[in-house]
Parts: sequence; C-alpha cells; structure tokens
Amino acid sequence: MHREHLDAMTAQQGLPVRDIVCDLDAETTQCPACLATFATAGVTRCPECGLNFGD
Ligand SMILES: [Zn+2]
Repeated sequence: MHREHLDAMTAQQGLPVRDIVCDLDAETTQCPACLATFATAGVTRCPECGLNFGD
C-alpha cells in the first residue's frame, strides 16, 4: 500500500524515478548531479562537482 502511494505521487508530479544511471563500467559516464560527462577510468568522484561515486 505504501509503495503504491509513492508510485502514484511520483506519477502525479511527473518525476522520473531515476533517469540517469551512473555507469562506472562504461568508458564514459554522466554525473547525475551536474550532468558532466567524463571518462570513468580511475575515477570515483565527478571531476566537475566532486560527487562521490565510490562506496
Ligand atoms: Zn558532477
């Protein structure tokens, strides 16, 4: 019931559940925060905004 409520609210507000997936297995990826595209090799933080993708 709670889950259905959340889905309904999300649909109502037109919010994407998750439209950008940060894929560090890809050669390049896009930061979900600042939308910068960067090479993933050896990177655990976004070079633009510093968002940490590591654990
Ligand atoms: Zn960023």
